[in-house]
Amino acid sequence: MIAKVIVDISNSEVDKIFDYLIPSNFELSVGDRVLVPFGSRSIEGFCIKITDYSDGNFTLKPIIKKLDEKPLIKKEMLELADFMREKFYLRFVDVLRLFIPSKLRGNKVKALQREYCTLAGDIESLKSLISPRAKSQLAIIDRLKDSGEYLTVLNTEFSPSVINSLVQKGIIIKSKQEVLRKPASENDNKCADKVLLTDTQKKAIEQINSCDKRVVLLHGVTGSGKTEVYMSLIENVLQQGKTAIALVPEISLTPQIMRVFRARFGDDIAMLHSGLSDGERYDEWRRIFEGDAKIVVGARSAIFAPLENLGIIIIDEEHDSSYISESNPRFRTLEVAEFRAHYNNCKVILGSATPSVESYNNARLNRIGLAEMNKRISINGMPEIQIIDMAKELHTGNFSVFSNELKEKLLETISNGNQAMIFINRRGYASYMQCKSCGYIAKCSDCDIALTYHKEDNMLKCHYCGKKFKPLDICPNCHSESIKQGKIGTEKVVRELQTLLGDNVKILRMDNDTTATKTAYLDILGAFRRGEAQVLVGTQMIVKGHDFPNVTLVGVLDADMSLYFSDYRSCERTYQLITQVSGRAGRKDKCGQVIIQTYSPKHYLFNFVKNYDYKGFFEKELNTRQVTNFPPFTTIIRVLVTNEVEEKSLNCTKKIYDNLKELKLEYDREFVYMQAMKSPINKIQNKYRYQIVLRIKRTFETEIVGKIYKIVDNNKQGNSVFVEINPQNMS
Ligand code: ADP
Ligand code: ZN
Ligand code: ZN
Repeated sequence: MIAKVIVDISNSEVDKIFDYLIPSNFELSVGDRVLVPFGSRSIEGFCIKITDYSDGNFTLKPIIKKLDEKPLIKKEMLELADFMREKFYLRFVDVLRLFIPSKLRGNKVKALQREYCTLAGDIESLKSLISPRAKSQLAIIDRLKDSGEYLTVLNTEFSPSVINSLVQKGIIIKSKQEVLRKPASENDNKCADKVLLTDTQKKAIEQINSCDKRVVLLHGVTGSGKTEVYMSLIENVLQQGKTAIALVPEISLTPQIMRVFRARFGDDIAMLHSGLSDGERYDEWRRIFEGDAKIVVGARSAIFAPLENLGIIIIDEEHDSSYISESNPRFRTLEVAEFRAHYNNCKVILGSATPSVESYNNARLNRIGLAEMNKRISINGMPEIQIIDMAKELHTGNFSVFSNELKEKLLETISNGNQAMIFINRRGYASYMQCKSCGYIAKCSDCDIALTYHKEDNMLKCHYCGKKFKPLDICPNCHSESIKQGKIGTEKVVRELQTLLGDNVKILRMDNDTTATKTAYLDILGAFRRGEAQVLVGTQMIVKGHDFPNVTLVGVLDADMSLYFSDYRSCERTYQLITQVSGRAGRKDKCGQVIIQTYSPKHYLFNFVKNYDYKGFFEKELNTRQVTNFPPFTTIIRVLVTNEVEEKSLNCTKKIYDNLKELKLEYDREFVYMQAMKSPINKIQNKYRYQIVLRIKRTFETEIVGKIYKIVDNNKQGNSVFVEINPQNMS
């Protein structure tokens, strides 16, 4: 028999399947990991098919050996691999690598084994072998009478030399036993009692269960109790003997949801996210693979968990951009989830207080189901939102990063013994130019999208059409010369805050710099939850999902920063961000208050935010997208070409562009826009980047995208070429 094998090499651009002979002395199954001869080396690979013929007419080499007892890639995952290759234009090997822990390849990580001590026989007869005066030896025997113990633990309780002498006498037996490495979750031993579901929650669950759509959007305002709904749905699925995946957007949120889930489901849960050590990931993965864990909670990649018999997939905060992988291998989590849900005949639940325009539009058009929860669990309802005009503050001589209102409220919150969160959007750092006195933002004349400042050539550029503009020195609107590039960071905020509140107030900071170590974010969140600090200052990381009962005040500094990102989704993102961060205030029995500081208080967005009018916002946004021909009415495609030699990537881009021009002629009415340009960041990791950006209508999308893939395939010429659909970032 012949095995079709995907060879696990990364540096090749080819996506080739190789044939190997299966030696008659072992049984091979599809999905097995194998060792095969490859050139002069032996390399790992995956058997993806077994046949009785080979297309090649040369002598085949035999497989060297099978690397595991059972196939690592199950049938469902092999089919998923096929789907992903087609859908996202990926290499086989890159997809398969998503499915297993990276360090399992090459056996770089192994089960952790420790020496384990047990008694060699029954306790009385063992004791009779020892002099009654050997007190510590007897104590060790007593210690081991009920169950064994790891040697490392025993060594901390007794003298190692005494233990050793018992081993030598044959009274204690040492053996190897596996220790499972358990990932940490937020440290809180309080067991959450099972709550009684509210009528709103019950109704949402009914709506979800009775819905005949594969995907259901659960639109529930912040604090409406979505987590309880998820848990209830999962419980139901477990009762039917099935399994569940719950995805959360960011690693900082995983420990919190784990805490709640663990309290409810105990050890049935496994966790998969990028914050795990290799050993932890390996152990968690095997618990899932062996069927010992029935629920998987994790970030995006947990969608590939090798669970069998899936009963539900939950994607919490579905609007979050982290669900789309934007570096190789590029994929969209929702589409993977839909595939698995279809395969297992189960549902995908998308949860959010601020659904993406795309998802809500799908619900509106009845392509997916919809369940809504419009009320908070807390009787105090939604926190009151106040919009502060920062230009006015400047005019009245307040040059601090805090408005007077926010200062006052901060002092009040602290003196009442409550907690506050201050959010600052550092991702928008210095990327746009804005007039400080009137709030004017430099935008592209063609695209109505904020321009991005490029320092190297001192130009403002549009990331959608490539047009360049001179940087602002005088505001064309009010002729003021005070132009700013937002430049405040978390550190500065903490310093100002400390001065304002005094040294007795403890302030925590959470951003990329303070969370470099694996447990840092757990420590920060844990300390804040326990009330060891009164204020938490942070970036995006503090926005999502957190449920801190004592937070009554939320401040948003410089809300404009993301509003004018050079992206057609800027408004959507800002709406989501502000609503989410506001949602952290007043979640339990205390009233909440939100203060949003901005230089453009008149922007329509703030009215919707203030009134918690998601639908109003959605209608307006959808309308804008329709008028300006942006998704979901069109699809943006970026073909990105990279090469270490600039000329090569430029030539390749030209070639592809010429071919695309022909395609454009063929489908002229479908093309809204097409242009080739340097990428906004022209060089990353020494590779020169060129891109072609297209916008097409959606009628023939699948057909056109298929043809684009073909064109790219035929014109790669050794360059790395990526095709991205509606990319989240165009840099
Ligand atoms: P969301 O994810 O919708 O923002 P959460 O799931 O975090 O909201 O719930 C908000 C708060 O309400 C949490 O503290 C949660 O424990 C509590 N909660 C949820 N459902 C109930 C319920 N049925 N009864 C009492 N408290 C609840
Ligand atoms: Zn101005
Ligand atoms: Zn433009």
